[in-house]
Formats: sequence, C-alpha cells, structure tokens
Amino acid sequence: MAGKYGEILDQPEGTVYGSRASLSEAGMHRPLMAGICGPASLGAESIVLSGGYEDDQDYGDDSATGSQIGDQTLTRQNMALAVSRSNGSPVRVIRGSGHVSPYSPNTGFRYDGLFSVEDCWQETGRSGHVIWRFRLAKHSNAHGPTSLGNSHTRRMTSTVSRIIRDTEQARTIKKWYDYRCQICGVRIEGAAGPYAESAHIKPLGSPHCGPDTPDNILCLCPNHHVMFDYGGVFVNDDLSIVGTRQRLTVVPNHFISIDYLRYHRHHYMNR
Ligand SMILES: [Zn+2]
Repeated sequence: MAGKYGEILDQPEGTVYGSRASLSEAGMHRPLMAGICGPASLGAESIVLSGGYEDDQDYGDDSATGSQIGDQTLTRQNMALAVSRSNGSPVRVIRGSGHVSPYSPNTGFRYDGLFSVEDCWQETGRSGHVIWRFRLAKHSNAHGPTSLGNSHTRRMTSTVSRIIRDTEQARTIKKWYDYRCQICGVRIEGAAGPYAESAHIKPLGSPHCGPDTPDNILCLCPNHHVMFDYGGVFVNDDLSIVGTRQRLTVVPNHFISIDYLRYHRHHYMNR
C-alpha cells in the first residue's frame, strides 16, 4: 500500500480506532509496530504516541514531542521526521491510550490532526542515552474541524513558514552590525532598506526557553540563520566557526554567552 501524506479521505480528526490493525487498515498509520511511518527520503506520514518510550512528552495541541530510547543518530525513522521539518510536510499525529498524557484518549487510538515538525535537537535522556527530540505543532485548520459535509479530500497545502519575530533587542543588534551577517559579512540590500535576521542561539520556544537578550542573539544572513537553526553551522567557545578557520564577527559591546553557544552545539550537532 502506497504512502499518503496529509488527510485521509473519510477519516476526520477525532476518529478513534480500536487497535493498531484498524489504524493500519484505514491507511491512517500503516505499520503495526513502528511509531513513525514514512521513508527518510520523503519525510514522515504519521506518528503514533502510544507510550513505551521513557522520554515521550506531550504538551497537547501546541506541541507533541516523540522520542525514542537508545543512543540515536538521525537515521531511518528519526530522519523522516527531520526531513518533514525541512520540507514542511504535514504529519498525522495519533495518540494512543497507552501514552501517559492528559491529551491521550481513554481507549484505543485517536487521530488528532495534522502537525508540522518545528524543531529537532538531541538530549541525554533519563537512561543516559542520547535521544533526538522533535517538537510538533498543530496546523491551524483553515477549513474548520471537519470536511463540512463535502466528500472531497481536503488537501492541506504544505508550506514552510519561518516566522522571524523581531524584538526591540533584535533590531538593536542588527543595527550594531549594520545588517551584516556575523558569519559571512553579507549585507542584503532590499528595496525597503538593508535586511538581516536575528538568530537566537538557545531557541526561545519550549522546552529550550532561551532568553531574548543580546548575549543570546546573533545577526545573520538568511542562509546562515537557516544553517544555524538546522544544525548546519556551529560556533566554538572561542567564537571560531566549527570546521573552519573563520571566526564570528563580534562588535566590542556585544557579549555572547558561551553557555548558549554550548547549548546550541550540544543540542543541534548531529554527531
Ligand atoms: Zn551569512
């Protein structure tokens, strides 16, 4: 049976399934055992949060974090979720009653809608093994909760949206650098003036909860911002760029926290 991304015809959000077998028959989540369905090359189609992983966390609609036990590298199923993040494809999230969370159904498995993978990083889990964590956020459903009686499949268009929230702090730091990237020095000239992005070294979102303070903010070009957020570039304690002879450009009044640089290296480097 071929894989399918997005909504499944006649299987609206909120549908409860009695077993993994009925989930599979419905095409909602095809494998009977694996928690993540979908090839690493294309991204994950669906995930089941059903307990069994010591470090699973579930924060309800805002985010669902699935993780697995054992020292992990980004391969196979994990990689599928990382690829879903990169290409912005929607992932069906199914919660099982075996998963200890206030959001889990009392019995069986419930389809809880389409989510997007917003972040992935590594951590040391409770057992001491390295685990990869993923933060998934629920898609806002522009079409309402169900298909409104229309029998057509409502395809969710997948888009990648990187919301760059500029705070007063961020604007100040970009001015310090005259909108030049601290890694490559590029300054983008737009019709509305120069353009740069502010990157938080330790991310703002839960569970990282990095601060919006100058010691946690870099001024980067869009390419280096993406590389920084996606684990493609790292800064050492001495402000050299990992794997290069380059150093981060830093103006005299900009103190950058070594702790936050370490946090970024430890959580986003795929070793
Ligand atoms: Zn750059």
